[in-house]
Amino acid sequence: MSKVLVIGAGGVGTVVVHKLAQNTDVFTEIMLASRTKSKCDNVAADIKKRYGVEIKTAQVDADNVPELVTLFKSFQPKLVINVALPYQDLTIMDACLEAGCNYLDTANYEPLDEAKFEYSWQWAYQDKFKEAGLTAILGCGFDPGQTGVYTAYAAKHYFDEIHYLDIVDCNAGDHHHAFATNFNPEINIREITQKGRYYENGEWVETGSLEIHQPINYPEIGPKESYLLYHEELESLVKNYPTIKRARFWMTFGQEYLTHLRVIQNIGMARIDEIDYNGQKIVPIQFLKAVLPNPQDLGENYDGWTSIGCRIRGIKDGKERTYYVYNNCSHKAAYEETGMQGVSYTTGVPAMTGAYMFLTGKWSGAGVFNVEEFDPDPFMEKVAQSGLPWNEIIDGDLEL
Ligand code: NDP
Repeated sequence: MSKVLVIGAGGVGTVVVHKLAQNTDVFTEIMLASRTKSKCDNVAADIKKRYGVEIKTAQVDADNVPELVTLFKSFQPKLVINVALPYQDLTIMDACLEAGCNYLDTANYEPLDEAKFEYSWQWAYQDKFKEAGLTAILGCGFDPGQTGVYTAYAAKHYFDEIHYLDIVDCNAGDHHHAFATNFNPEINIREITQKGRYYENGEWVETGSLEIHQPINYPEIGPKESYLLYHEELESLVKNYPTIKRARFWMTFGQEYLTHLRVIQNIGMARIDEIDYNGQKIVPIQFLKAVLPNPQDLGENYDGWTSIGCRIRGIKDGKERTYYVYNNCSHKAAYEETGMQGVSYTTGVPAMTGAYMFLTGKWSGAGVFNVEEFDPDPFMEKVAQSGLPWNEIIDGDLEL
């Protein structure tokens, strides 16, 4: 008997609730709470129609700790799944501590006024969660999330030492819009327009934004220009696997997308500071979000695939070894199952799987954890059954 509360009725939250409703043996009572209750009610109605499962819904402002605590104390979830925005991570963690709930999210905390990606703020909760006997699982989407589990799986089964890690994230789908982002546009554009960064020989090397790029071959997709970005899981993976000499993250972008992005930046629409407009304060990137296509509405005509995985080199039994583990996900299949496109799907399925691991006791411990600190095996089994099967290539050519 486990009650679970999902916060955030966006693209990812919708997929999470679908997946929870497919596993009611473990998730016996489900609540979806978000800023706009009507969105929760729409998801609940769809779930009822598809699976006959009742979902409770609630309105909550996740920036407000007392409001969260009241909700948590009345519903008493064992686990809170935070798929609102990264700005709410700390308030939700505070409320979990106060109400005695465990915590899981898919993106590290970001301050609203600064696009800064690091785990320091959330790792600082380590002692508080430990003392409370509660678990916080950080970054349990696809990247971060599944990529950390892939790395843990590689380390457990295939390597004595991991030396080189390249996380490769390809979206070869087409949503047929001139420009749209696949998840929250504000978060997405903040992430992509920051400086690039990778880890090499114990140091972080900074690059210009999208400065380093090369074509990478993706299975069943072919070569796609891929750009080196900083991504938050690099920080925890190099800490948890200290034999890593170099860790990088690559993501594909089409030329059309990059041209739009450049214009958006050049004309100041990616700004995250407040400006005065006709006596009213607005944040340009938030205004931009309001006029861009809603990522939740992209699914209907989205075709093609995503392909995300880890390409790893290192040593096993004194010999060089390469390993590539990845998932290819169809946007169309994701939409048919959940009404959402593949990017929300590939985030929501691992979030449900992490919740499943925790509530079935396969992942446990008091404190704050990144996913690679847990046993990867039961997760890999469950995630494959839940819509994200994975493939592996051992000792193939990694290109990178
Ligand atoms: P959306 O913008 O679609 O959804 C966010 C939801 O959170 C919306 O329903 C929004 O409410 C709600 N929300 C925002 N602020 C508050 C608040 N203060 N109180 C209550 N609810 C609030 O985003 P996505 O679903 O695309 O992304 C969700 C999360 O998943 C993000 O943190 C994102 O960074 C993360 N993510 C992680 C990935 C991974 O692989 N690890 C990949 C993709 C996303 P409203 O509807 O009223 O606006």
